[in-house]
This record gives sequence, C-alpha cells and structure tokens, in this order.
Amino acid sequence: MKFGGTSVGSAEALKRVANIVVNTEGDKVVVVSAMSGVTNFLVALVDEPSSDISVVLESFRHKHLAEARQIMDEGSPLYEEFLAEFDRRMKAMEDSINSDRSNPYYRDLVVSQGERFSSLMLSFLLKSMGHKSTALTSEDAGIYAVGNPMSGSADLSRTSLGMTLNVKPLLSEGIIPIITGFYGMNDDGAPLTFGRGGSDYSAAVVANAIDANMLEIWTDVDGFMSSDPRIIPGAVKIDEMNFGEAAELAYFGAKVLHPRTIEPVRVKHIPLKVRNSFKPEEPGTLIHHLRKPKGDLLRSVATKTDLSIITISSAEIAYRPAMVAKIVEKIAEIDVIIYSISTSLSTVAFLVHNTDVKDTLRQLNGLSGADIERIDVKNNVALVCAVGDNLLSKCGVSGDIFGAVKEAGANVEMISEGASEVSLNFVVPMGKVVDVVRLLHDRYIGVSQR
Ligand code: ADP
Ligand code: ASP
Ligand code: MG
Repeated sequence: MKFGGTSVGSAEALKRVANIVVNTEGDKVVVVSAMSGVTNFLVALVDEPSSDISVVLESFRHKHLAEARQIMDEGSPLYEEFLAEFDRRMKAMEDSINSDRSNPYYRDLVVSQGERFSSLMLSFLLKSMGHKSTALTSEDAGIYAVGNPMSGSADLSRTSLGMTLNVKPLLSEGIIPIITGFYGMNDDGAPLTFGRGGSDYSAAVVANAIDANMLEIWTDVDGFMSSDPRIIPGAVKIDEMNFGEAAELAYFGAKVLHPRTIEPVRVKHIPLKVRNSFKPEEPGTLIHHLRKPKGDLLRSVATKTDLSIITISSAEIAYRPAMVAKIVEKIAEIDVIIYSISTSLSTVAFLVHNTDVKDTLRQLNGLSGADIERIDVKNNVALVCAVGDNLLSKCGVSGDIFGAVKEAGANVEMISEGASEVSLNFVVPMGKVVDVVRLLHDRYIGVSQR
C-alpha cells in the first residue's frame, strides 16, 4: 500500500491512513511519500542554500512536530521514544545538508530526507493505536537503485533479496513495516531517487520484491481518471484499465502514477488499484492484465508538455539506416529520453524535453563524417496521448480526432500511430494543448464543466 504526500500531509490525514491500513486484511507493507510540500521545500533548499540553516531546520521540525503532537500523547513514553528517533533523523538531515555539495548524489541525499519523517510518524501512530509497526528507511529495507542522480531505477533482483531478509520476517511477526518511498540506495549505500513522484514506483518495486498479490496506490483523487481533473473538471473515474493503457498514460504525463510504476508489477501480473485515501469507501480504479472491452472510443487523455522537436535533414536518410542508428546512439550516450521518432525520406525527427535540446544539439554537432544538411528545432510543443478501445482499430477514428484538433485551431506537428497498441499519440503546440484536450474530452467522454 502506498500513500502519497497529501494522504500523509497532516495529523488528520495520517489518522485516515492508519485506519485504512489496519482495516485492510492480510499482511501489508506500507510505502509513504514525504508530507505534502516537504520535498519541494528540500528542493528549494538545494537550489538556494540558506545562510541560516538552523532557522530552516527549525521550521521543518516545527511543521512535523505540530502534527505529531496531534497523533500521540505528548509526554507519553511513546512520544519520548518517537522524539528521540525524530531528532536523530533531524541531525542526520543536517549532516547531509552540510555535506559535500560537489558530490553528484548530493541532491538525492537532501531531497530524499522527507520520507524518513513521514514514515516515522505513521509507524508511531500505528503503535499508539496498539498495533505492531516499524519504520524502515529504504536502506533498512534493502531497496537498491542504479543509474544517474535523480533518475535511478530499482535493481529488482537485489531488492528482492534485501526485502526477503529485512521485511518478510517482520510480516510473520505481525509487524506492519512503513517504508520510505522515492529512493533506493546506490552501490555506495547512498540515496538515489527515482525522479519526482517516485514513491509510486518504489511501491511497485516493493510489491514485485515481496510477490504481493495486490498493489494499492492511495492518493487524493477517486482513481485513474479520463484526464487530469485540474485541467478538465468534468474528468470521470475509470473503473478498469489494462497495464498497457495505464503505462502509456503515466509515461505521457498522467501524474497520478509515476511514469515507471507499471513495469515492476506487470512483469509479475500483480494487479494495481488507484484509490482515494480521503474516500476509502470508493472502489477506485483496477489496473490489471486483461479488462472487459468497453467499446468506448476514447477512455483517457494525458499530455506531456515542454517538449521540442529536433528535425535532422539529410539526403535520402531513409536509405541509410546506419546513419539513423548513429544519430540515435549519439543521443543515447547522454541518456536523453526520446519520446517519439518519426522519419521521412530525407528527415528524421526526435521529440525530446525542452531542457535536453542543448545537450542533444551538442552531441549531434559532434557527429563526424555525417552529411547532415540541416538541423531544425521547434520548441514548446506538447504530446497528447489518447487511449481508447476503438481508437486504433475503427476506420476513420483518427481522422475524427484530428478533425477535432483542427477545430481547436491546432496544427498537428508530429504523429505516432501504430507504435503503441493502445494509444494514439500526436504533438501540438504548447499554447493549444489545453484546448485540444478539452475539445477531445467534451466530444468523446463528456462535457467538462469549465
Ligand atoms: P500523490 O501525492 O498521492 O502521489 P500526485 O499529486 O502525485 O499525488 O498525483 C495525484 C494527482 O494527479 C491528482 O490530484 C490529479 O491532479 C493528477 N492527475 C493527473 N492526471 C490524472 C489522471 N488521469 N487521473 C487522476 N489524477 C490525475
Ligand atoms: N516526495 C517525492 C516527491 O515529491 C516522491 C513522491 O511524492 O512520490 O517527488
Ligand atoms: Mg505522486
């Protein structure tokens, strides 16, 4: 079970979460995010180091203890025990903030601190309610990560071993483990985060490692919805999805799940539920291998913004696959994510994040012996990912969709149809993306109440 930032954001929210946990049958392992706002606060601390760190730390301490005092009796032996561990963690956080900033993993070390406090609070709340619980950091639990700073991936086999040793024995003793989300430890034993929103992925990794029979992601909305409810107030909850649909939508911007949440559970056929911790009576969305066909044209739309199209022109490039391979290889050297590729006879176009354009161009300029005629960049575009049952199979549907896009006054800049079995992806200018999504949603799902 994973609880996000808002779900653990106050004493009241923590109490709701504790009730959900204890009312869930069977063995359970809990993964938590930091309290809402805490990770942003830590990110700001790294970006703009404070001259008076003691003031900053005091406000962090105050924020947490103000809530802790509402869930435990101040002055009770349990509270004293909590406070001693809390202050040990505060000291460790201070040491990490004051550690060597030139360490490439410095940012991971600091921004991952928040989860250590929310997990401690939930665990002590459960204890105060008379349940056996223990707070485990990712290091304690044995969650291993590999990769570059701020974008680690879990080492699934080592994590499985770690969890078997450190977590499974607790379950047989009836202890509820509360584990920090968001990061694992790298080869040096230091925190490596999974990217923002990474606690969903942590929970999927834990579910994989312990062979869970269900993963529950508890958040602040009723489930996986037909679109981002902040953009489309009339977005509706989806009852059932398959792994492929959820994976595509999460990858292409549906923030409700971290882009990589699906893979660790999909490989073990572990079903996943997205549920609302503020409304535990709601069934949420079930995501699993197969779902009943619904016959709807469009089920959900997600958008990935702040992207750029880099178009490379070179005579008859289509007949020179080795050259295309060389270009991709060059881009891959710097770990840039390519969201889409499309080719024509004499061009190949890549969709990358705006912030990756400079480095990508530098790499391409370093291509020796390649007869590139021109490189064009179109900044500030957005990808629209549309998922639906008949979207790809029914004749004329994509024509209809693009008709709607035209109605929104947008030019389609790039299309990827057929690359995915479940989605139709296309790129529009950033300034038009909200209109496009609203129009598609209104037309095929329901009228949004603006
Ligand atoms: P948590 O802190 O629980 O991880 P997040 O804020 O990361 O919560 O993710 C939940 C939010 O994702 C929702 O409040 C909603 O605004 C946003 N969201 C974006 N797309 C979707 C979608 N398709 N379905 C549900 N929520 C979405
Ligand atoms: N606390 C982390 C973040 O804000 C991880 C998460 O919430 O999933 O990015
Ligand atoms: Mg999240």
